[in-house]
Amino acid sequence: MAAQPERGTAPPSAAASSIETVLRGATVYDGTGSEGIIVDVALADDRIVAVSRDLDIEGSNEIDLSGLSLAPGFIDTHTHDDFAVILHPEMAFKVRGGVTTSIVGNCGMGTAPHHQAVQVAQSFHPDAELPVWEGYGGYLDLLEDAPASINIAALMGHGTIRAAVMGPRDTAPTSEQLAAMSEMLVEGLDAGCLGMSTGLIYEPGRHATTDELAALASVVAAAGGIYTSHIRNEADHLEQSIDEAIEIGRRSGAPVVISHLKVTGKRNWGTAQRVLDQIAAARSTGVDVAADQYPYTAGSTVLSAILDQGALRNEASPFGGLSGDDVAIASCPAHPEWNGRTLTDIGAELGMNAADAADHVIATDLRTNIILHSMSEDDVQTILATEGIMIGSDGLPTLEGQPHPRLYGTFARVLGHYSRDLGVLSLAAAIHRMTERPADVFGLVDRGVIRPGAVADLVAFDAETVIDTGTFDDPQRYPTGIEWVWVSGVAVVAGGEHTGKRPGRVLRRSPRRAASDTAASNTAASNTAASNTAV
Ligand SMILES: [Zn+2]
Repeated sequence: MAAQPERGTAPPSAAASSIETVLRGATVYDGTGSEGIIVDVALADDRIVAVSRDLDIEGSNEIDLSGLSLAPGFIDTHTHDDFAVILHPEMAFKVRGGVTTSIVGNCGMGTAPHHQAVQVAQSFHPDAELPVWEGYGGYLDLLEDAPASINIAALMGHGTIRAAVMGPRDTAPTSEQLAAMSEMLVEGLDAGCLGMSTGLIYEPGRHATTDELAALASVVAAAGGIYTSHIRNEADHLEQSIDEAIEIGRRSGAPVVISHLKVTGKRNWGTAQRVLDQIAAARSTGVDVAADQYPYTAGSTVLSAILDQGALRNEASPFGGLSGDDVAIASCPAHPEWNGRTLTDIGAELGMNAADAADHVIATDLRTNIILHSMSEDDVQTILATEGIMIGSDGLPTLEGQPHPRLYGTFARVLGHYSRDLGVLSLAAAIHRMTERPADVFGLVDRGVIRPGAVADLVAFDAETVIDTGTFDDPQRYPTGIEWVWVSGVAVVAGGEHTGKRPGRVLRRSPRRAASDTAASNTAASNTAASNTAV
């Protein structure tokens, strides 16, 4: 390692007067996919100002990171932290896992208009009191005025906007309704939202046709925004659903992110590579398609979604067929004693079958969340081994219940379990897919890399010990081995403990880097252990 050239050294004379912190002796992974090298990193204000071996500057704060790995802070590409960031601003469940930025507003669920947004909030934060804000701009301003411990970037939710304009209608929008939805999108884009998400498996997003979505995505594309989608069907019609996302990208010109890419429904297991090839083929024809993934074989959502789609009684539902053993309650505010138990188990107690038990639970409390064991380990690994796949937790921050452990453990699990222990991907590639890759895809400038001039969002962890520790029975546990986290140069985790600091910022949309730059960074990260098609 010592033989490698130094990179990106700033002239010490230029920076020496303002150096505050020098991080010494870590193995630095710069986020580009390059292997780690032992160098020192100097910070001044919110920026990295020097990266060099044996840096000859004294900082007012010298920190010895010998034996640790230092990486750009992790960007959680897929979160539902929209309201948690207001209600739990220290965001310990994210920052203790190395996350420095959450992208909110996923799966069609956004934070404006406020009246609709707070209804969604009820599912994740029962009875919580939220402040009032006006539009997406008002939401972002609120976070700027009362910062959290991590950065937030926001997508707009198609479902939230559609509900505000059209209510629960299953018809196509009139031209006036389409114009009203477009106007809300423009408000959010002007305020700095990154783009629009859809949730085509949920009410009311599932009633939108491809034409409606392409028209709205065109509004987003015109402002340089992105289109992300929880696609219409992740089971029997997975390929058609990915085709629809690609078509929306092609027609609108918006870059596409397929959210939490997975194969559900037992009879579809083993088809992940086919889907990855399908995405790679679309990319080769010039459609910009990316995808993110969480590293678990179980999903999590609201119980109402699987019941609306008949998943417990119909093998052909968009979730695939689910049995009562496959579904456990994550949180039921009216009956917390059901948390963690399967529908089969609850049904046995109530003297009914699992499907009837589910109907009973939802009638008791509409805000019930569930865990669904619905994927195969092989498919999860096939997707994770693929170059360019980003990491997004999709965690539901229902801290009162038994949330899916991905809320806390996603990044540590990829680093420790899948990279170190199983060798599914290299450590450098894993870090790239949590840092520079999402910064490029979502247009987060000066983030996701360690180089002079970049913002000092950083995480230091022990590559030998880092691991997720939460389980489905006991999910609310911080990972092991995440020792330090800095957000904009401020230590938010120090020696494994939260410092209480809240330096998080609102990251507003910037023009994305040219496609050729993104392709170059993909090539730099081609050192994955088992990939052949890039997504
Ligand atoms: Zn989703």
